[in-house]
Amino acid sequence: GCGICVKKCPYQAITIVNLPEKLQRNLVHRYGANGFELFRLPVPKEGRALGILGSNGVGKSTSLKILGGVLKPNLGMIDEPPEWDDIIDFFKGSELQTYFQKLSNGQLRVAYKPQAVDVLSKVTLTVGEALKKVDEKGTAREVAERLGLLHLWDRPVKALSGGEMQKVAIAATIVKDAQVYLIDEPASYLDVRERLRVSGVIRELARPGTYLIVVEHDLAVLDYISDLVAIIYGEPGVYGIVGTVKGVRAGINTYIDGYLREENIRFRDYRLEFYEKPPEASYLPETVLLRWSQLSKTLGDFKLEVEEGEIHRGEVVGILGPNGIGKTTFVRMLAGELEPDNGWIQRIGTLTLSYKPQFLGEVKAYGTVREFLREHGVDTSSSLVQSELIKPLRVHSLFDSYVEELSGGELQRVMIVAALGKEADLYLLDEPMAYLDVEQRYAVARVVKRLTAEKGVATFVVEHDVVAIDFLANTIMVFEGEPGRHGTATRPMNMRDGMNLFLRNVGITFRRDPDTKRPRINKPGSWLDRYQKEVLKEYYYVV
Ligand code: ADP
Ligand code: ADP
Ligand code: MG
Ligand code: MG
Repeated sequence: GCGICVKKCPYQAITIVNLPEKLQRNLVHRYGANGFELFRLPVPKEGRALGILGSNGVGKSTSLKILGGVLKPNLGMIDEPPEWDDIIDFFKGSELQTYFQKLSNGQLRVAYKPQAVDVLSKVTLTVGEALKKVDEKGTAREVAERLGLLHLWDRPVKALSGGEMQKVAIAATIVKDAQVYLIDEPASYLDVRERLRVSGVIRELARPGTYLIVVEHDLAVLDYISDLVAIIYGEPGVYGIVGTVKGVRAGINTYIDGYLREENIRFRDYRLEFYEKPPEASYLPETVLLRWSQLSKTLGDFKLEVEEGEIHRGEVVGILGPNGIGKTTFVRMLAGELEPDNGWIQRIGTLTLSYKPQFLGEVKAYGTVREFLREHGVDTSSSLVQSELIKPLRVHSLFDSYVEELSGGELQRVMIVAALGKEADLYLLDEPMAYLDVEQRYAVARVVKRLTAEKGVATFVVEHDVVAIDFLANTIMVFEGEPGRHGTATRPMNMRDGMNLFLRNVGITFRRDPDTKRPRINKPGSWLDRYQKEVLKEYYYVV
C-alpha cells in the first residue's frame, strides 16, 4: 500500500479509510456534515501559470472557487464557519497566508471563467455589448479578434454555439483588469485550432503581479498553457487531496505514472500509456467493412465533399477538423440518418451499427440508467463492460438515476457505455471525450482500441483531443475548408501523413516526451518548431 490507504478502492482509485491526523489538520473545506472534503489547496505562484490536473469530482472547481473568493473555506467547521483571520492563520507559513490576506482585504481582483458556459444562453446582449460591458482594459475588440469572435460581434450571445460561448466566456475573463485569473476547463467545445489560439491568449495572463490558474483535461492544452502543475487526487465525490506544485513536465508525467514520489503515494494502480510511433495498422486490407464513393451533401448554405474511401475490420479511423466543417454530417451519412446528394455508401454484408451522437440533448429516454442500458442491449454483468466501461466511467453510481435527470457529463458517460457496451460491427463516436477527465478519456480510448482489434469491428471517432486521437486511431481523415460554408474530407490516411496535413493547416508542431511518449506542443517560433517545419517537414512524428 501507499502508507496512508488501508484498502484498495474497487474503482481503481485509492480509498483512505482512516485519514491520518496529519492530513485531517489540512482540511480546507467540507460541503455539509457528510459532504465532500478538500485537503490542502494548490499554491499559486505570482507570474506563473499553474495548471490543475485531476479526475472529475476531486475538487478542482472547488479549489478555484476558494482561491477566487467565490467560496469561503470553512476548514471543516460546518456549524461555526471561521472568520478570515482564522483562515489566514490556518495557512500560516505558506504562501497562501499572504494570498488570503490580500484576497480578504480586497487587494486581489479576481477574474473567473466558470466550468459551465451554458449559463450564457440566457444573455440577450450581443457579443460586442457583453464584452464591452466587462472590458476594463479596453482590449475587447483586440481579444475578440484574436479568439476569432469578431464576425459574431453583433450576434446575441444566447444564439451562439457551445464553442462560441466558450470563447466569449474566455474573452470576458481576459479583458478584466485583475490580479487573479481563474480559468476552469477552457478547451471544452473548441476545435484544435481554437484550443491553441485560446491557450496562447490565456498564457499571456501570467505576468509579474498576476496569478493564473487553469483546470483542463486536454493534456496537450494544459501542458501548453502551464508553467507549473498541481495534481489533485482522491476519491471522486468523497474527498480530494492537493499534491505539491511541480514543473509542468514533471507534474504531467507524475500524473501519467499515478505515483507521487516524494509523498510515496500511488493514487492509481496503472499508468496512462502513450506510444512513441504511429500505431501500425492491425487490420487486413481484404476485410473491407464499409466503402464509399465520392460523396457530396448540401445542408442550407453548407456543402460537404468527401473523397472516396473505405474502412476495414480492426481499424479505428480518427476524424480531425475544425467546428462547422461537416464531420457530424459525414458521420450521420454513415449512420444512415442523412442521404448523400451524390455518391453511395456500401455496407458489406449485414452490418450492425452503434452510434454515439455529438449532441445528446435530443436523447429521449424515460426510466433509469439501468433500464436504459438493458434496453440498448448492454450486458451490464459482462466482465468487459464492468471493468472497462462501467467502473472507469463511474456509471455504477448512476444506475438508479433517471436518464432525463442526468447532467451533461453523466449523460455522456452513460451514452458511451450504451454505445460501446453493445455488440455491433461498426461504431460511430462523435466527440466522445467531451466532459471526460483524463482517466476516463484513457479508458474510452483503450476500450475502443481493444474492442476494434480483438473483435474485428471498425470504429470512426470524431475528436479534438490530439493526445486521445494519437493514442487510439490507426488512420486519420482530415476535414478542411471554410467552416459553415464548405468542407472537404480526405480518405482515411496513415497517421503520419494525416497528422502532417492537419497540423500544417493549424500551423503547430508536436514533439514527444522522452519518458512518457506523450505528444507535446512546440512553442510557436521555437527552435524545434522551426526545425520541424522547415527542415524535417514533420509536424508530428519525430524520433
Ligand atoms: P471537480 O471540479 O474536480 O470535478 P468539484 O470541485 O466541482 O470537482 O466538486 C468536488 C465534489 O464536491 C463533487 O463531487 C461534489 O460531490 C461536491 N460538491 C461540489 N459542489 C458542491 C456543493 N455546492 N454542495 C455540496 N457538494 C458539492
Ligand atoms: P462539424 O461536426 O464539423 O462541427 P457539422 O457537420 O455539424 O459540422 O455542420 C457543418 C455545417 O453544416 C455547419 O455550418 C452547420 O451549421 C450546417 N448544418 C448542419 N446541419 C444543417 C441543417 N440541417 N441545415 C442547415 N445547415 C446545417
Ligand atoms: Mg470542475
Ligand atoms: Mg460535429
